[in-house]
Amino acid sequence: MEREKVMGFFLQEKIQEMKDWLVEIRRAIHMHPELGFEEIETAKLISAWLERFGLQVKKGWAKTGVVGLLEGKKPGKTVALRADMDALPLEEANSAPYASKLPGKMHACGHDAHVTILLGVARFFSSIPDQMQGNIKWIFQPAEEGGGGGRIMVEEGVLENPKVDAVFGTHVFPFLPTGKVGIYEREGLAATDRFTIHLIGQGGHAASPHVTRDPILAAGHLITQIHAIVSRNINPLDSAVITIGKVSGGTAFNIIPDKVEMLGTVRSLTPQVREELKLRIEKITEGIARSFGIDYRLDYRYGYPVLVNDPEMSRLVALACGQGIGKENVEVLKPSMGGEDFAYYLEKCPGAFFRLGCRNEEKGIIHPYHSSLFDIDERVLPFGVEMFVRIIDQYMGLNLH
Ligand SMILES: [Zn+2]
Ligand SMILES: [Zn+2]
Repeated sequence: MEREKVMGFFLQEKIQEMKDWLVEIRRAIHMHPELGFEEIETAKLISAWLERFGLQVKKGWAKTGVVGLLEGKKPGKTVALRADMDALPLEEANSAPYASKLPGKMHACGHDAHVTILLGVARFFSSIPDQMQGNIKWIFQPAEEGGGGGRIMVEEGVLENPKVDAVFGTHVFPFLPTGKVGIYEREGLAATDRFTIHLIGQGGHAASPHVTRDPILAAGHLITQIHAIVSRNINPLDSAVITIGKVSGGTAFNIIPDKVEMLGTVRSLTPQVREELKLRIEKITEGIARSFGIDYRLDYRYGYPVLVNDPEMSRLVALACGQGIGKENVEVLKPSMGGEDFAYYLEKCPGAFFRLGCRNEEKGIIHPYHSSLFDIDERVLPFGVEMFVRIIDQYMGLNLH
C-alpha cells in the first residue's frame, strides 16, 4: 500500500503510530469472545478507553451496548459510527497465539476488528480537539448475529440526543484484499425472514397408507412448490432466495408419522418482493395442506430489514476513501443476500455501510465468515481507522490539517 501525503499532514503516519495498540486491542478481544447480549468484558474494555479519551460515555444500551460522544468546540453536524461486539458459538480452529481462549466461542465474523477500528477513530479525534466541529457519536452494539441488538439500540433512541445526521458502519470483507474498500450504491444486504411449517397428518402403518394422511409426501410436494416461487412468481430482474434448511419427521422405515416440521429462510432486497414471497408461501402451504387433507401451522417471522444505503452517502464514502487509496481501490459491490442489523439505523437516518478488505493470500487469510479458520489481515485495523477519519473529515468538512 504505497500512500501519499494527504490532508496537509501525514494522516497515515499519525494512524500508523497507533498500529501496535490497535493490534493489541483486537487480540485481547479476539482471545475473549462473548456471545450476543453477553459482551460484558468487551463493553468494559470499550468504556475504559472511551473514558480515557475524554468522551461522554453511556453504558447499558440494549443490555451491554456502549455509546460514546465527543462534542466539538464549534457547533456542527452529528455523525455516528457503529460497531458490533458479539462473537459466534463456534470452536476456533486457528492456532495463532491470539486464538480464542474460550471453548466454543469465536470472533469468526471480525466484530473484534470493528470494535478496535472504532476505538482507533475515537483515539484519533480525541487527540485533535481544536479541529473538531460538530459531534461524533460512537455506537457499540450487542448481538448483531441474529439478536437484533441494533434494533433495540435504535428503539432506545441511540440516534437522538444529539440527533444523528448521518450514520456509517463497516464490516471487514474477506473477499477483497486489505487496502481495498467495497461500497453498495443502494441496497446492500437482504431482508432475512424465516418460517417454520408444521404439516400435521395422521400416522399409521407404512403398508396401509390409504388409512393414513401422510405428511411426508405432502412435505415433498410442498418443498417442490415453494421452490417454484422464485422462478415463477418473482420478476427475474429482482432478487429473492428461499432455502429450506431443515426438514424433520418420522422415526422408522415402516411408520408413517403424524407430522413433519420444516424450517426455512427467505431473503429479498425490496419490501414488495418481501411481501410477495410471504404471501406465496402462505398460499402454497394452505393449498398443499388442503389437497392432502392434512392440517398445518405456519409461523412466519420477519427478521432484519433490507439494508439500504443513502446514495449520496455512498458517493461520499467512495469519494473520501478514494482520495486516500485511489478510486481504483474502491469497488462498487453487488448486494449480498446475507443480512445485517445496521439496516435498522439506515431506516431512520441517512448513511452508508461499506466493506473493508481483510484478505491476505500470502498469509493464508482467505477463509470466509463464520468459518472456524476465519482470521483478518491486521493491517485492516489502521486502514479502517483511516477510512473512517476520511469519511468524517469529508462529511463534516473539517479540512483536517
Ligand atoms: Zn456474522
Ligand atoms: Zn458480522
